[in-house]
Amino acid sequence: MSDFDYDLFVIGGGSGGVRAARVAAGETGAKVALAEEDRYGGTCVIRGCVPKKLMVFASEYAHAPAEARAYGWDIPDGTFNWSDFRGKLEAELDRLEGVYRKLLAGSGVETFDARARLKDAHTVELSTGEVKTAKHILIATGGRPVRPDLPNAHLGMVSDDIFHLDALPKSVLIIGGGYIACEFACILNGLGVEVTQYYRGAQILRGFDEEARGLIAESMKQRGIDLHVGTDIVEMHRATGTDEDGMTAPVEVDQYGAHPEDGPGNGPIRVKATNGNTRVFDAVFFATGRKPNSDDLGLEELGIETGRNGQITVDGYSQTKVPSVYAIGDVTDRVNLTPVAIREGMAFVETVFKGNPTEVDHELIPSAVFTQPELGTVGLTEEQARDQEQIEVYCSSFRPMQTAFAERPDRVLMKLIVSKATRKVLGCHIVAPGAGELIQLAGIAVKMGATKEDFDRTVAVHPTMSEEIVTMRNPVRSA
Ligand code: NDP
Repeated sequence: MSDFDYDLFVIGGGSGGVRAARVAAGETGAKVALAEEDRYGGTCVIRGCVPKKLMVFASEYAHAPAEARAYGWDIPDGTFNWSDFRGKLEAELDRLEGVYRKLLAGSGVETFDARARLKDAHTVELSTGEVKTAKHILIATGGRPVRPDLPNAHLGMVSDDIFHLDALPKSVLIIGGGYIACEFACILNGLGVEVTQYYRGAQILRGFDEEARGLIAESMKQRGIDLHVGTDIVEMHRATGTDEDGMTAPVEVDQYGAHPEDGPGNGPIRVKATNGNTRVFDAVFFATGRKPNSDDLGLEELGIETGRNGQITVDGYSQTKVPSVYAIGDVTDRVNLTPVAIREGMAFVETVFKGNPTEVDHELIPSAVFTQPELGTVGLTEEQARDQEQIEVYCSSFRPMQTAFAERPDRVLMKLIVSKATRKVLGCHIVAPGAGELIQLAGIAVKMGATKEDFDRTVAVHPTMSEEIVTMRNPVRSA
């Protein structure tokens, strides 16, 4: 008999924590408990990937009537009903949360709807007052969006807020140029909101392939997003009434000009930008990054190290400095993607409960940004590869058949970065509708170490957009 209440206590019921708990209990017979203070499913299911992707689908119908008319259909333009959609979205998230709870129960995991905190290396204290011991503790508490350090920043929304809006704003200012900023700029634009986006850097989607970033920025502007790069917010105030110049005027209530109970979505906001412009928006949306949820977990007292952004420091096996405590997913700020957190959870179970020490391979992870068009990417960007070795770049940008027929200006991009020495494809970048689906498959070849000649040997599927990936004969440049 073990001296502990459980073999494993998991803190956090998101993708990583739930998977680790289920597999440890279901496949190894371990006695497992899990505590979650909010909804089961975590960021991905409740306030991230899943509701976001459903909003992407909703917004993509904006062009459907016009495109269908170009193909001979007699279809009038329609209007989007946010409250109908939101009701269905909420029902779907309730269903998914139920599935998560059922999966845990089905695997024999005991769950606590409570916040948990480490008391010592083998003990957690729950917000209910209960104290539980475990041989191993797994922290999988995820992350949360952060607002910039700016007076009145509380007036702006973050991604968590967007799914709960009573009504869509007529106009929105999005701050940021990362995944969330660009995805929601496209979503809200598709749903009929006037979207302005300020990004402080020279080009959106820092870290991705430059050519791909350029095409996405161009496509976003073409679709009506008022994108300003090299621009940031300097001041924001709640605006009511009207100024002489026709602008709504700020109401100074407290030292920062805002009522303490005033929150996101409560009325227009007046914003001053670094370019000197002052404009009024119905809402401001901060997509300025995320922070690991490592506060008040009792880490410091135990000597568990955290990094500058609050991320828990772990080794390749997700183990912290305290041998019985492990951490996976966004709280470790390694690669903040759901499938990576799940893999880290599975590797933890292999290592700790199956006697098979397993490190997670964080190399060549395919991923997608769900802009319109999407960006799918795996491996090195042209810029990264050039710094590493001599390369050839194969690239094709064209108007795809489906939208070209409907006389839309949309362009797609297929790009391969090839090592001159080994002929291996070091990177693949696709900007196109469905690029997330395409890169999943291209990712297999790249992960297997396919060469450009392997791609060339593969017969094209015709007529498709992605056949270009196997028919690009001559490099557009060498470097
Ligand atoms: P990102 O780190 O991708 O982007 C944050 C953006 O905000 C950057 O453009 C950054 O600028 C800018 N920024 C940061 N601080 C400030 C500030 N004080 N003032 C103005 N701008 C600021 O974060 P996201 O929140 O978009 O996404 C978080 C993570 O979630 C992603 O990295 C990704 O791992 C994951 N994610 C994945 C998705 C997917 O797989 N499709 C979708 C959504 C999220 P700068 O570039 O100059 O630093």
